[in-house]
Amino acid sequence: GSTLTIKDLHVAIDGKEILKGVNLEIKGGEIHAIMGPNGTGKSTLSSAIMGHPKYEVTSGTITLDGQNVLEMEVDERARAGLFLAMQYPSEINGVTNADFLRSALNSRLGEGNEISLMKFIRKMDKQMEYLEMDLDMAQRYLNEGFSGGEKKRNEILQLMMLEPKIAILDEIDSGLDIDALKVVSKGINQMRGGDFGCLVITHYQRLLNYITPDHVHVMMQGRVVKSGGAELAQRLEAEGYDWIKQELGIED
Ligand code: ADP
Ligand code: MG
Ligand code: MG
Repeated sequence: GSTLTIKDLHVAIDGKEILKGVNLEIKGGEIHAIMGPNGTGKSTLSSAIMGHPKYEVTSGTITLDGQNVLEMEVDERARAGLFLAMQYPSEINGVTNADFLRSALNSRLGEGNEISLMKFIRKMDKQMEYLEMDLDMAQRYLNEGFSGGEKKRNEILQLMMLEPKIAILDEIDSGLDIDALKVVSKGINQMRGGDFGCLVITHYQRLLNYITPDHVHVMMQGRVVKSGGAELAQRLEAEGYDWIKQELGIED
């Protein structure tokens, strides 16, 4: 299996330090959840892993199976097997969902290993059916006029088609009704097992009723301040974050 290793990561935006030494290791086969109050740097972590130019890594390392992720261009990160939902464009004029997915998949598979059109269509149909998606979605222009729920389902379709080594899903649950939430969770759970590793970032415990994480981390003030198992998410749901702040002597 693969391992994504984040060591003492410091990230600044416009010269202001947001992440202040994040340590995290995600292995293939594991589902990790990061929770935490708003504004504590969860999305910043996801953007830094994805290589967003606005997020400056001032020190620390990110490696995938020992390879330096920070030296890779955004598309190289995807080819190396990282999946970051946000890295996929919101809308591209004139490119259908199917075209986009096929070229993303072929880029991931590499030259000489491209998937045949027939195989691709079969795989895509199967996954769309599994995700209870309207098959017309394949021929629609990417994200054009997609509802919030359709976009999220489509991100999970991308995930299931690309079969990355490690996926980072930031707020995949936000704005979803319960049916869409169930479908999104079903997709992630189907990927589960084997070598697939996943980091779900969520503000709400609700998603974790459907996806039971192996590890839960709490982020506060730009650091992972506490880690535990699924029971940690349940305690946060019941008691909020104050007890952790007290335990650690954090003031806000
Ligand atoms: P979370 O996802 O945990 O809610 P974020 O990572 O989005 O937190 O934000 C952490 C901090 O960084 C916040 O204080 C936020 O205002 C700041 N921040 C995030 N993104 C930007 C940005 N693009 N420009 C300026 N400040 C930002
Ligand atoms: Mg440090
Ligand atoms: Mg966020």
